[in-house]
Amino acid sequence: MCGVGGAWGEGAGSAVAKMTPWLMHRGQEGVGYAYLDGGSVKIGQPPDDAPAALLHTRYSTTGAYGVQPQPVYAKYRDMELAVAFNGTIVNYRQLDPSASFDGEALAKGLARAIWELGLEAGVAEVYRKIVGAASLVALLPWGLLAVRDPRGVRPLAVSNEGGLFKAASETIALDGDGVELAPGVAALYGKRISTWKVDPQPPRLCALEHVYFAHPASSLGGRLVAEVRRLLGRALAEEETERADVVSYVPETARHAAAGFAERLGLEVVDAVVKSRYAGRVFLKPPGERDAEAVFRVVEKLVAGRRVFLIDDTLIRGTNLRSIVPMLKAAGATAVHVRIVSPPVRWPCFYGMDFQTRRELAMWGRDVEDVRAMIGADTLRYMSMERFVQILGEGVCYACFTGKYLHDIDVAWAEREVTSGRAAAVARP
Ligand code: SF4
Repeated sequence: MCGVGGAWGEGAGSAVAKMTPWLMHRGQEGVGYAYLDGGSVKIGQPPDDAPAALLHTRYSTTGAYGVQPQPVYAKYRDMELAVAFNGTIVNYRQLDPSASFDGEALAKGLARAIWELGLEAGVAEVYRKIVGAASLVALLPWGLLAVRDPRGVRPLAVSNEGGLFKAASETIALDGDGVELAPGVAALYGKRISTWKVDPQPPRLCALEHVYFAHPASSLGGRLVAEVRRLLGRALAEEETERADVVSYVPETARHAAAGFAERLGLEVVDAVVKSRYAGRVFLKPPGERDAEAVFRVVEKLVAGRRVFLIDDTLIRGTNLRSIVPMLKAAGATAVHVRIVSPPVRWPCFYGMDFQTRRELAMWGRDVEDVRAMIGADTLRYMSMERFVQILGEGVCYACFTGKYLHDIDVAWAEREVTSGRAAAVARP
């Protein structure tokens, strides 16, 4: 996962700088920029008065951890560009065999295809080859290009106000003026302005964008994310059979679902688990740096002698819950009933999330009872798939819950491709 953004027009450099903090919930490993300087594309922090600029907040799904390889610069003959994209391209070697990671293959493939076929046909040609998902923003010498991937797995929004065109992964980064690009739509703004369709497919927005990844104040598919999370929490409560005294949650993304859950059961939400606001989002960090015990604290007064419903949005590896449940018990909670606002994640994601192998999943080779024991909860219950689909709808990707991928993917091959891309040394072109 990543955040991408761009601007074209007067003040584009400062517009992109203002956008940056509103995309860092999507990636905090690093921030990279590109800009237009005297008609040429440059990688680096843009001056405020740059006429066009590009932004990428990194959450690595391929390539080495701890480097900032995007935006990627590429040149083919006299066609130069910089690209920032959100997603994963599993078969990136088919786009460019010399590329060391997917972003590099995308940039090189686009530069070549646009030079050979022209803009519209070149973009379509690249997207036809992609196995995975890619919503991108590209800076060309003559325009800013925004393309939402053909299934709309990753979001992308645009705005155009007072001659300043902006694109960003989420509407919250566009001052509330943004409109979501429909799946498979490309928009160009610059020396000419146009929109067109790129190989549109049935829409499949990532379910986990709604559940925890997107900002609660953004809109996805025209729905406010915070409201969808509240509905999910209410639906989870409808299936409840246990009793508890209070509701708490794993901060911050489960907050709205916890409110809906508590509302439905007539219980109080207590902020019993607190997180340092300077610690960032734990799942966005490389696995070796995910130290939940250093990030979370439990407020003893709020849980001592009480039975607690603990709400979390997903249970993927169980990193946070394995620390938090024992902390609640140590603080005197008499029971901890963990409730997950989504069904069990049983399959890797090859569309832009950082769980790309089966062996890292808590549910791989285990059943719900094993996972309950692993996290130390008294009971563990997930949202049923039926209710989950009722709330989120049909035009959504559920592949990590069902194993039904959007492409014909050999899981073992895809695992090897993405993990070898992870291991490759990444050098900025
Ligand atoms: S596989 Fe899961 S995480 Fe990946 S895009 Fe689909 S729903 Fe989202």
